[in-house]
Amino acid sequence: MVQHPRIILLGLPGSGKGTQGALIARTYGVPTFSSGEYFRNLRREGKLPAEVSAKINAGGLVSDEDVNMIVVESFLSTQEAQAGFVLDGYPRTAAQAAFLDEYLTKQNLSLTAAVYVDLPIETAFRRISGRRVCPSDGSVYNVYYSQPEREGICNLCGAPLIQREDDRDESVRTRMTTYEAVTKILTIYYGDQGKLITVDGASEPNVVFSRIRGVLDDPA
Ligand code: AMP
Repeated sequence: MVQHPRIILLGLPGSGKGTQGALIARTYGVPTFSSGEYFRNLRREGKLPAEVSAKINAGGLVSDEDVNMIVVESFLSTQEAQAGFVLDGYPRTAAQAAFLDEYLTKQNLSLTAAVYVDLPIETAFRRISGRRVCPSDGSVYNVYYSQPEREGICNLCGAPLIQREDDRDESVRTRMTTYEAVTKILTIYYGDQGKLITVDGASEPNVVFSRIRGVLDDPA
């Protein structure tokens, strides 16, 4: 089994990369950092600047400089990230990918793999627009695929479920267009480095994960 992998995840919003990230993290015993989750936590604490919040709600991207700094200061430079990690939602632009490579190279490190969860845009759209989350404990449900036991109520804590502001149709469309325009090209960037693992996101999560695991543990 590969030890202390350093992994990034690529895929449309709704492709299931967060689920795969969690499975990778649990199996290989490494921490996950989600840049989107970082911003949502800041917002919950009332610490997200209004202009950043507005940009996220509209489905746009936070600036490369800000995100690079946040990922390094809040995660990559911390003790917990020293023995491997999974990055979910970062890098998202060519500039972020170059920054990450440079940062790791300076420490004589490199990425183990970039996992690309491939899914048709219509399927991803349906998944994401059906997503409902618990504002209290972060549990995720879907009105099409994994409903809570009581409609609109979190199974775990009983809080009313909400739709993320940026999961509303207009924002989702912008996020998907942004992904296609500026993030998808990273599959070529990591492909050229021989680091890309492409998996079919339409399969069951455990099937997707078996494939990732197979490649990580036995890179041919
Ligand atoms: P996510 O949960 O990964 O879909 O991220 C939610 C939102 O946070 C995105 O739509 C962006 O507005 C912002 N965000 C998260 N990660 C990044 C990033 N690496 N670069 C720029 N913006 C980001």
